Amino acid sequence: MLTDKQQKKEFKKVASADPEKYYPTKKLKAEGFSRKQCTKCGMYFWTVVKDRAVCGDPACSGGFDVVTNNPAKVSLSYEGVWNKIVEMLEPRGYKKVNRYPVVARWNPTMTYTIASIAAFQPYVITGEEEPPAKKLVIPQFCLRFGDIDNVGITGSHCTGFVMIGQHAFLSREEWNQEQLFSDIYEFLTIGIGLEKTEITIHEDAWAGGGSFGPCMEFFSRGVELFNQVYTMFEQTPEGNRELRLKVLDMGLGMERIAWFSQAKPNLYEATFPAVLEEIRKVTKVEPDFELYKKFSR
Ligand SMILES: [Zn+2]
Repeated sequence: MLTDKQQKKEFKKVASADPEKYYPTKKLKAEGFSRKQCTKCGMYFWTVVKDRAVCGDPACSGGFDVVTNNPAKVSLSYEGVWNKIVEMLEPRGYKKVNRYPVVARWNPTMTYTIASIAAFQPYVITGEEEPPAKKLVIPQFCLRFGDIDNVGITGSHCTGFVMIGQHAFLSREEWNQEQLFSDIYEFLTIGIGLEKTEITIHEDAWAGGGSFGPCMEFFSRGVELFNQVYTMFEQTPEGNRELRLKVLDMGLGMERIAWFSQAKPNLYEATFPAVLEEIRKVTKVEPDFELYKKFSR
């Protein structure tokens, strides 16, 4: 049996060699995207920009910039991000589900809830427990203690954050990867009004706990907006096989999308506007964002 890391690497080669089979290429082509290979890192990616040579990773595309000529036509408040997801996905058959606790008592694989999919691990994923709905959206508060040292330094980390999950638990017959992809792609183009020219989508692979599958990472302006994982296969001692229950795992940071759509200098300005305004009033301190920018890279 391969480790998750080896499996991810192996499967990525398989998927890259046959993108039509593993990635939602019909929707991408219908939207005018074409497939390219990054001249810097070798990653396969999709873009509508004919002469684009590099992928969306900030290391290849030259850092991030969401403030100058921000490409999002719709500005969403922090809560507005969740409301927009519900507005877009509820009519497409996704049920709105309440968040789970941050202490993951039901989940023997972790102490604290670190991702939206953790709410459904392990028993919904294994098929032993029924999901609250076959397709759902959830605003899951998550704790990642590893992030704490970065709070205030990167401009994009919090002590806790809300991961909005778009999840689906579907049989082989019900699974429609193109549709699941379209649902979140249109949140970008319609929900926050992002031009296609500003979207770069990477082909990647994911593996964890013996399951694995292709995934697509969405970037704009050097910012990774979210990642959509299609868990479709599992390793067994007899070899790889298709899962009976396929799982969609897309998680987006509510603070990050608010920040991106509002073109604020950092995530805190977008997430805590009222608190920051009050602090400035009381302390009579005005922030110097130019100075901040130099430290927050
Ligand atoms: Zn690259």
